[in-house]
Amino acid sequence: MPENLEKPITNALNGNPSGERKLNFLEKLYLPEIFKGMWYTLKQMFQPKFTMQYPEERFDPPAIFRGRPVLVEDNGQERCVACGLCARACPPLAISMQASENSDDPKERYPNFFEINMLRCIYCGYCEEVCPEEAIVMSKDYDLVFASREEAVYDKSKLLVSKEELKERLDYLREYKNRQFGQFWNFDEENNIHSVRNRDKRWETSLSLVEMIEEQRREEGHQTELKRN
Ligand code: SF4
Ligand code: SF4
Repeated sequence: MPENLEKPITNALNGNPSGERKLNFLEKLYLPEIFKGMWYTLKQMFQPKFTMQYPEERFDPPAIFRGRPVLVEDNGQERCVACGLCARACPPLAISMQASENSDDPKERYPNFFEINMLRCIYCGYCEEVCPEEAIVMSKDYDLVFASREEAVYDKSKLLVSKEELKERLDYLREYKNRQFGQFWNFDEENNIHSVRNRDKRWETSLSLVEMIEEQRREEGHQTELKRN
């Protein structure tokens, strides 16, 4: 065993503190150091405050914030097609759902039930990343309170939030997520179904992707004309 591990060379208690720094008279008094500390504390009192009087004052997070995941409600129904990708991607297995079909609806599939166990959720945002329909997004909601485990399982009645309320996040995703994808492969906006599908209109399922893009462009041109006039 090396010698210095057996017996420490510099130790105030071993009677040979040769490596120790000598304190001057003021340092030995400790008082100047105490006043220095108090002066530092006093100075902080006049600095800008970053704390809030929660819950009276509430934090309004920016669009990049990842609060609780919610389902996007679009024209009175969920966008979700119950594909199950989010449940598959969720690391703590917090999502469960059951798919159903409705042949009268152009969307055809919808989740009969959709639940997220908020005791398990780690706010990672993977569900949002993988969703092909922009149907599940991270909201700004950060203060969740439950009185029991059962209450922490959020069903559709708690999860559905209208797209108007989620506009900031949806705009953020459209702008930044698309840009981020573009760094890894040759990203064309036309290839992103979310960017071309006009969700405010009733879905025209007979249109091909190319026709959807053309229609979208026609409409954008029309809206620009309207703004000019
Ligand atoms: S944010 Fe992460 S942990 Fe929470 S439901 Fe989505 S994938 Fe699961
Ligand atoms: S990935 Fe999107 S569309 Fe698929 S089940 Fe999840 S929320 Fe629904």
